[in-house]
Amino acid sequence: MAPILVLVFMTAGIVFFLLYKRPVKMAELPNGYRELLTEHVAFYRSIDEAGKIRFEKKIKELLGYINIHGVKTEVTDLDTLLIASSGVIPIFGFPEWKYYNLRDILLYPGSFDEVEFKIDGEGTVLGMVGSGTMQQMMILSKPALYNGFGNTSDKENTGIHEFVHLLDKEDGDVDGFPAALLEKQYTIPWLNLIADTIAEIKGGRSDINIYGVKNKAEFFAVAAEYFFEQPALFKKNHPDLYNLMTKIFEQNPPHLSQS
Ligand SMILES: [Zn+2]
Repeated sequence: MAPILVLVFMTAGIVFFLLYKRPVKMAELPNGYRELLTEHVAFYRSIDEAGKIRFEKKIKELLGYINIHGVKTEVTDLDTLLIASSGVIPIFGFPEWKYYNLRDILLYPGSFDEVEFKIDGEGTVLGMVGSGTMQQMMILSKPALYNGFGNTSDKENTGIHEFVHLLDKEDGDVDGFPAALLEKQYTIPWLNLIADTIAEIKGGRSDINIYGVKNKAEFFAVAAEYFFEQPALFKKNHPDLYNLMTKIFEQNPPHLSQS
């Protein structure tokens, strides 16, 4: 083998090792975390003891490699646990998963303006994953984070929504097509289902959040919120979507019990 090729392979190997095999630091969980999770996170409350231990381990892992910064607000233990739960719920079915495209989370006391972050768009924003210079960053509104977990009878959860964008982004694009998670044979059925369901929403014939018509990425994120917040209803109203999403997320979400 030419020396240059050896060098290329060695460099690629080292980069791969540094990025993907770096040892994961486990974070300490705040005092009383079990009580906080049980009280505030319906998903956690609804899984068995072995599941709870796995959930806690994933939280420790996630908090080991992300930093949460409060912007004009203090980050409380509960804020930290809700943010981590938003990240763990979509990856709960995966034995190994790290959000390599996330390092910092900015938590805001209210909604924020996209203009502030020089990102195209308009209106009130409750959460966002960064691109360009904001790469590896997520921005969340505290009230939206709490609404997501406080109301278990709706189909919305901003924290989960933003983390699902990151899963989608794992293949490089936030496009509603999580190539890393979807086996090839499901590509066409998935894209067809998205197109059909967006047409239903536009025609007023769907109970999926209207925001999903914006594009395929938003469709995937709002459908995932519904999938995790109201799995039984989602399965009943959207059996084909439900079925494909259990394949994407490799889990049947627990039917959530009220607190
Ligand atoms: Zn979105």
